[in-house]
Amino acid sequence: MEKLLAGVDLGGTKLSVGLVKPDGTILDKIIVYDHVGKEEDFIVNYITQLVRKVISANNLKESHLEGIGVGFPGHVRYRDGYTITTSNLKGFKNFPLRDSLSKNFSVPVRLDNDANAQAFCEFKCGAGRGYDDLIFLTISSGIGAGIIINRKIYRGMTGTAGEFGHTIIDPRSDYICTCGNRGCLMGCACGLTMPQMFRKKTEDGIKTTLPLPADFDFSKVDGKLIKQGLEINDPVSKAIVTDCADYIGIGLYNIFQVFNPPVIILGGGLMNLGDFYFSRIKTKFYELARDMIYDPINIVRSEAEADAGLIGAAALLLE
Ligand SMILES: [Zn+2]
Repeated sequence: MEKLLAGVDLGGTKLSVGLVKPDGTILDKIIVYDHVGKEEDFIVNYITQLVRKVISANNLKESHLEGIGVGFPGHVRYRDGYTITTSNLKGFKNFPLRDSLSKNFSVPVRLDNDANAQAFCEFKCGAGRGYDDLIFLTISSGIGAGIIINRKIYRGMTGTAGEFGHTIIDPRSDYICTCGNRGCLMGCACGLTMPQMFRKKTEDGIKTTLPLPADFDFSKVDGKLIKQGLEINDPVSKAIVTDCADYIGIGLYNIFQVFNPPVIILGGGLMNLGDFYFSRIKTKFYELARDMIYDPINIVRSEAEADAGLIGAAALLLE
């Protein structure tokens, strides 16, 4: 029997653990949300239990696994398997996540940044099939990227290459990123900043047509609410989406100038904002890149979508 891969997608809100076949199909998965706010040791034990649970639920043994791949939402020291920092989970400052998990299993454990894992998933079995080089950008509560060069994940010296969300695109921006810097792409165009954007737009005098209660808590603004706003042509939602799309378009332009990739794949929850958002991103990109483009560049949506993190983490074992 062909060995299976276990994937762990450790997100800031969602923790998915699953069994994945080498062709990228998911055999089974467990999704939990109650890891949020917990410490490192709790999460290590929780992941261990969930992996064991999904193995035994499928009448399998650990020996049926090739290994366990883990995607982490933050900076990772790839060689020695430490997390460096994250703004999506409590703790995890210089934490030996890979070896803490390895102690509980007899098969190898790989740890990488979650966007690297997603990029690898797109390369293996998604919108990046057939390309030797690609850039994957995930746009959701945060923003991250994965770089594939010559069919391999490019990690840089430490393993932190591709933290594109923290490139600064507007140093005079009103928005401070979770990393503390002003004007990161992530700070200007991700879901986490939407509450501040909403407040700013209304303070600027734009009136929302969303049916919100008088005591509305602005911290509740998220991509879903903004999408509802877009659907009813709400001027505030439209202004926010336009700004976010323009910043992402600038980001893609920067990616184009640095990497000249044949394809840029966009994934993450904010892509659900739909065609207005996606076409505005492309418009901004082409407005900036103009006649500097010689070979056509494909800007496409992720194909693996919500499971890319899980499949990609598992696929790290195949790298
Ligand atoms: Zn930042």
